[in-house]
Amino acid sequence: TLQDRLAATFKTLRGKGRLSDADIDATCREIRIALLEADVALAVVKDFVAAVKERARGAELSGALNPAQQVIKIVNDELIGILGGETRVLRFAKRPPTVIMLAGLQGSGKTTLAGKLALWLKEQGHSPLLVAADLQRPNAVTQLQVVGQRAGVHVFAPEPGNGVGDPIRVARDSVSEAQHKLYDVVIVDTAGRLGVDSELMQQAADIRDAVNPDEVLFVVDAMIGQDAVNTARAFAAGVGYDGVVLTKLDGDARGGAALSIARVTGRPIMFASNGEQLKDFDVFHPDRMASRILGMGDMLTLIEQAEKTFDAEQSAKAAAKLTGQGGEFGLNDFLQQMQMVRKMGPLSKIFGMLPGMGEMKEQIAGIDEKEVDRIEAIIYSMTPTERDNPKIIDGSRRARIARGSGVEVSEVNSLVNRFFEARKMMMSMASRKMPGMPGLPGM
Ligand code: GDP
Ligand code: MG
Repeated sequence: TLQDRLAATFKTLRGKGRLSDADIDATCREIRIALLEADVALAVVKDFVAAVKERARGAELSGALNPAQQVIKIVNDELIGILGGETRVLRFAKRPPTVIMLAGLQGSGKTTLAGKLALWLKEQGHSPLLVAADLQRPNAVTQLQVVGQRAGVHVFAPEPGNGVGDPIRVARDSVSEAQHKLYDVVIVDTAGRLGVDSELMQQAADIRDAVNPDEVLFVVDAMIGQDAVNTARAFAAGVGYDGVVLTKLDGDARGGAALSIARVTGRPIMFASNGEQLKDFDVFHPDRMASRILGMGDMLTLIEQAEKTFDAEQSAKAAAKLTGQGGEFGLNDFLQQMQMVRKMGPLSKIFGMLPGMGEMKEQIAGIDEKEVDRIEAIIYSMTPTERDNPKIIDGSRRARIARGSGVEVSEVNSLVNRFFEARKMMMSMASRKMPGMPGLPGM
């Protein structure tokens, strides 16, 4: 899967100090293959990779992120950009009713979506009216009526027994019905075919002209992969639409279709359907889809946190001390580094996500949140001189510190010993220029 591929690619980047052109090329090759495997259209993949490459080349090395994290961030940003950036909200008409028309192939999920959308609008205080303008299949009207009943929303349908009804007329009449009965949103369900054909397109276009919709939504099954692009193009040419709804996202489609459609049509994806039940429906969030495509939700959260809490000045000072410049690395520096990391979230989680932590697993495994509290208390009970120069902390000082912080002397001993050990290791890492974590020298 795309997720596995990217994870494998980024693993090879871990522990490198900067991004060389060769690194970027290798990474981009993997991303390219991964996107193709996820069924993203070739033209889209080419553009995407080119954009990532350019940004990665021009990227300043961030203090907060290591190179692997930086590439992930660039890839993620580009994905969100293509997927539309911000969530696009539904446009309501200045004068009700707002008319929403659904278009798409048969089986794409229009009728199901109509019910979901109606319920969602109802829950927000709107009074929607569902319109059965799919008169192609004998049971299409009944299906919408069942859906409407479940959602508790009225369905406007042609009178039974009138022979074959005229969907254009039904659609037109529904708008006056809504005006008279004060429905403020009209949702027009239309017929689809199994494939794109001109008769179907003509009917959809006629319905569109009859109701003058505020939003035409193109409904597309995320599972159809590459075909989605052709279908999206055909509907764009035949009917035109303002937004896209992706359905069946509960399947294992990785989102390749989302990327292709958004890119090729330039239309925002507005809603996501992810199940057969009415509640399986969500406003589409580009950022969530991006992390679904990347399969790296945790990592992205960490990156965000790291950027937010990273204190460049403080870290630079600590790093300088570790390489023997700007004084000695003392307990205050130790504490500051620890606190900075801690601001990012639960320690156990952070350590699990940080790249390059393999070597330090042993030392870290024993640390829990409460212990960090105790370490803080112990360090706060020391004098500034003791913190700057921990060598002077002898037996009687340890006893005093233990009393002051309410811990056993053995815990003070263990902290002081651990500090010396950690400092030794960090200094040797810093002098070897082992750049696993440029942003977190104290780690
Ligand atoms: P229409 O022909 O475009 O109106 O499509 P329908 O709404 O009748 O849906 C076709 C089939 O797909 C039905 O069996 C639905 O239950 C199913 N379906 C619709 N949306 C989803 C979805 O988001 N997830 C899943 N798993 N099934 C869906
Ligand atoms: Mg239908």
